[in-house]
Amino acid sequence: MDLKWPLVKGTLLLRAGEDGEEKKALQAAAEILQAGGRVAFPTETVYGLGTNALDPEAVRGIFRAKRRPADNPLIVHLAALEQAGELAQNIPPAAVRLAKHFWPGPLTLILPKRGAVPGIVTAGLPSVAVRVPAHSLALKLLRTAGLPLAAPSANLSGHPSPTTAEHVLEDLAGSIEAVLDGGPCPIGVESTVLSFMFSPPALLRPGGVTLEMLEEVLGAKIQSPDLGNFKTDYTATPPAPGMKYRHYAPRAPLFLVEGAGPAQGRRLLALCTSLTARGLKIGLVVFAESQGIFPAPVLKVLSSRRDPATAAARLYGVLREMDAAGVDAIVVEGFEAAGLGGAVMNRLRKAAVQVIGAE
Ligand code: AMP
Ligand code: MG
Repeated sequence: MDLKWPLVKGTLLLRAGEDGEEKKALQAAAEILQAGGRVAFPTETVYGLGTNALDPEAVRGIFRAKRRPADNPLIVHLAALEQAGELAQNIPPAAVRLAKHFWPGPLTLILPKRGAVPGIVTAGLPSVAVRVPAHSLALKLLRTAGLPLAAPSANLSGHPSPTTAEHVLEDLAGSIEAVLDGGPCPIGVESTVLSFMFSPPALLRPGGVTLEMLEEVLGAKIQSPDLGNFKTDYTATPPAPGMKYRHYAPRAPLFLVEGAGPAQGRRLLALCTSLTARGLKIGLVVFAESQGIFPAPVLKVLSSRRDPATAAARLYGVLREMDAAGVDAIVVEGFEAAGLGGAVMNRLRKAAVQVIGAE
């Protein structure tokens, strides 16, 4: 193995920034994966922690490193749509249509699984989650390794997802073999998850590909537990086991203030004042339009209210910075915005200990 790469507590940091470097880094990463090891790699959404999806022992190593509950299944990343047939069967034509339209891209499809997929990958479910990521390094790694990669987000279970190689090392240095550093992830929130195990198909997690985009390509309606129109009784079959866990959460308790206009501003101010009066050091996350609202000791501007893409890209990094600053409580200004804004609010609601002012 090339020794010019730094080791961080025993984890290789494979830098892929410069020409010539990239090829060697990919080769080293592929060799580790072929030997049953774990490599974190960038995707367009967040960093994934990959391993050979067809090797149950390797997959066990992912659950161990992340301390992920065994009943929370993993997404399998593929180099191309053609590979899906090796892992899934009876793929509905509608799923193929979506895959052709949105792959490579931030859309995960849940399909009936083949026997070749080890039960540990799917937490014993009869379905498998697959996607082709739209990130050149991820695709090159998938092709070089020649394997389908089971890859959940490369964070400790329950922590905010990692959007840089540094975030990965904060959580996993010493417990994984390597991280492939490809710089920050462009989207910043996890993929949209759509299950074809329900009819009509069910949106289980909002992401970069929105409900409206899916319905337009499908030419049909989608159901969603979040929208309250989920028709299927899913007490017997959990739609996405991951949904029941508190996700994406920083260490400090997070308070989300929803609503809009002056009413939202008043609620935000009242909350900040009362937490501060209790002697708590608060971290305030606001949009550029309200940065003067309260003199919090730690203040981070997410983006403009009109720029949900930047809000998504910065969200997890800002939550990690709040923890690094040692705040006692995090107060976040919510917004309602189309597209990625919905995914950002979904993550914040799951991270929050309390949501204030939801209409
Ligand atoms: P993560 O990889 O950590 O971003 O999480 C993947 C999400 O997809 C979790 O919420 C999982 O519960 C969900 N998921 C993965 N595989 C399946 C499956 N076969 N059926 C339902 N949900 C799944
Ligand atoms: Mg995750």
